[in-house]
Amino acid sequence: MSDNSIIYAMKKQFAVLAVILIPAIFSCGQAKTIQPKTGQQTDSDTSKVAITLEAPTYVWDGTKVEKTSEEWKKQLTPMQYHVAREAGTERAFSNAFHDNHEDGIFYCVGCGMPLFDAKHKFDSGTGWPSYYQPINDKNVAFDIDYEIGYERKEVHCSRCSTHLGHVFDDAFDQPGGLRYCINSASLIFEKR
Ligand SMILES: [Zn+2]
Repeated sequence: MSDNSIIYAMKKQFAVLAVILIPAIFSCGQAKTIQPKTGQQTDSDTSKVAITLEAPTYVWDGTKVEKTSEEWKKQLTPMQYHVAREAGTERAFSNAFHDNHEDGIFYCVGCGMPLFDAKHKFDSGTGWPSYYQPINDKNVAFDIDYEIGYERKEVHCSRCSTHLGHVFDDAFDQPGGLRYCINSASLIFEKR
């Protein structure tokens, strides 16, 4: 191969890369609105109303989303409302994302803020989606609850206070050792 043909081959590769990468770069940085699914509605993968998902890189800016119970009931399915607003827990192994191995982002069902990234998800064997860290530490906040008789660290959305689940420090085989045990009903998943 002459020098010229090597340079030509390299240029061609860069052109192909640019075609692939430029749309990818633009699609990463923007918020988008998703419509409620038509047909049969499940408890976890949709919302009753259109919801705007922030860009996956969005970091909580300190603003709050507050709604009345009636407003939340209009937006959420009964199971989503029970988990997100009443700190309920869905059943293990019969929820949307415990066995989801697709690459993508998990957003808050209440306000569309990115909360977890599929690359931090692992199979904990518990029957709930589990992550070893949130997508950004600022996007989640914590409380301590004693609902089942002993102290647990509750985790919720920083912006709209949607209850997500609990954090445990028993994921010894994961980076950091934490296990965010999250209800699918609090999440909306979008493929990357
Ligand atoms: Zn939220």
